[in-house]
Amino acid sequence: MASMPIFQSVSSQLSRDFSAEHLASLKSFNMPSFSVHVVLAMVLQLMAAVQNTPLWRTILTWCIVLIVVGTLRLLLNRIEVRRSYQDPDATKHWVTKYILFSSVMSLLWGGVALYLSTINSNQIVIYVLLIAVIMTSIPLLVASKEAFYTQLFLILAPITIRLFFDPNSFFVGLAFLGLVIAAVFAANYLNHVVLQLQKTQLELQVQADTDQLTQLSNRRAFDSGFKREWQRSLRKSKPIALLVVDIDEFKLYNDTYGHLAGDDTLKKIAMIIRKTARRSSDIAARIGGEEFAVLLPDTDLEGARCVAQRLQQNISRLDINHPIDTDKKLTVSIGISCCKPTQSQDGESLLFPAMLVKSADYAMYHAKAAGKNCIREEGCGMHSVHDSLK
Ligand code: GH3
Ligand code: MG
Ligand code: MG
Repeated sequence: MASMPIFQSVSSQLSRDFSAEHLASLKSFNMPSFSVHVVLAMVLQLMAAVQNTPLWRTILTWCIVLIVVGTLRLLLNRIEVRRSYQDPDATKHWVTKYILFSSVMSLLWGGVALYLSTINSNQIVIYVLLIAVIMTSIPLLVASKEAFYTQLFLILAPITIRLFFDPNSFFVGLAFLGLVIAAVFAANYLNHVVLQLQKTQLELQVQADTDQLTQLSNRRAFDSGFKREWQRSLRKSKPIALLVVDIDEFKLYNDTYGHLAGDDTLKKIAMIIRKTARRSSDIAARIGGEEFAVLLPDTDLEGARCVAQRLQQNISRLDINHPIDTDKKLTVSIGISCCKPTQSQDGESLLFPAMLVKSADYAMYHAKAAGKNCIREEGCGMHSVHDSLK
């Protein structure tokens, strides 16, 4: 319980948003970093054993504590892998725990170095080991610069302060201070590079997920967002609805007014779709030439109907000319489907995202067959299962 405020304060200071990639990189360094800690601890143990001092028992206990903490940090890789990848908060908590375990390990190194520096042991070995331990902390820069500085402080501060105030080792203390300054400088530089890469990666990600013409999500982003929302609906036992929106007579529109005017109209309709799907969890995407999908998580059939009607009204307010009939305006046909994702007892998903898409698509074709400019609904259930198996 006492660790909770520390946990929360570290967590709240992590200002970066951690993506699955950042987490994966920290995780992939976890095992190598642990191995290096074990090897370095063994060196210390061996040194104590060779010197044949009673010290080796103390170092052995210290080694065991270090390995236990390192193993707990390693276990993080196993325990929270799946949850962390889906939930940004869980990712942040994972990183916080990683930092806390790393800090305990750094403190152990700082403590043992201070302890050994007070007795006549091989000082140079300790200094070299500490530098190696600092290197294992470098991956923490992915989490935050402050997290790395904390490790630096915990590892070096105890021995530096002691050496500094010991007249016989004043210059070693000074040299250690130089090491701290160099490490801070290097950390700043690396942090700058990491942030720059992160920014570029984010920009590329946004580009890869965005339809260039309409700036809505593209098919790729829609598919991955759909899977995520489907899982969330399954967990929370909430309904999820889908609208498939297709512009009527758009080929004729292009033929009459030209492709550029067609592009312009696509942009206007896309903007209306984005404004109509108002919730932050709604996903509006362009899934074909003049075809759009609107995913409405935590929305039942009644709610989906409302959104579809509002969308039709908003599009009619755009007052875009019909390609052939001057008395009419450009319209859309909308197919709706809604379902509550369910799981069988063996954990298998009974309904799949593909079935919802298929049902909404069916509904849209029914709307076309019924004369266009209308809304149709289709259930998403077992008959869709049979259809999709055909
Ligand atoms: P329906 O009412 O049955 O949906 O007929 P439609 O003409 O809208 O549908 P069809 O599938 O026959 O034609 C779709 C047209 O959409 C073909 C193409 O001219 C137009 N289109 C597709 N992508 C784009 C695009 O990026 N820009 C423009 N301007 N037009 C596009
Ligand atoms: Mg069309
Ligand atoms: Mg179409």
